[in-house]
Amino acid sequence: MIFVLLDNVLTNLTKKIFRTRWQLTGKCRQCGNCCKKIILTMTPAQTKSPIFRQIAIAWISWLFDFILLEIDYQHNNLAFTCQHLTKEGKCGNYFWRPNICRNYPLVDYFAEPKFLPGCGFNARDRDRR
Ligand code: SF4
Ligand code: SF4
Repeated sequence: MIFVLLDNVLTNLTKKIFRTRWQLTGKCRQCGNCCKKIILTMTPAQTKSPIFRQIAIAWISWLFDFILLEIDYQHNNLAFTCQHLTKEGKCGNYFWRPNICRNYPLVDYFAEPKFLPGCGFNARDRDRR
């Protein structure tokens, strides 16, 4: 847990010092949609490697308690759902949730953030007034 929090603090501190172009606005409506299908992207080489795929799936399933839904070979994605998502769409492991959940929606340095339909978050371009 200490490493999760430390990683989170350092990630967010870096983003405060070196600001991202896109700034997150809005807030979570707690609909739970982002926990139903979690897409993790790989490189084409990683997707092609059966050993890498198996290790990645086993590691992510063990570390995050995610459950593999599908492998999208066309878009180089692994799709997971989560053991901790309750029927009500809430997180059943909120205190211990991993950083991937704490930092969602992810604001990248370069790409415009994407949101699921109905998500309460938006992004504002800092360069546009
Ligand atoms: S999709 Fe958006 S609004 Fe819904 S739970 Fe995830 S972050 Fe919150
Ligand atoms: S740990 Fe909680 S926040 Fe993260 S995917 Fe699972 S239910 Fe969602």
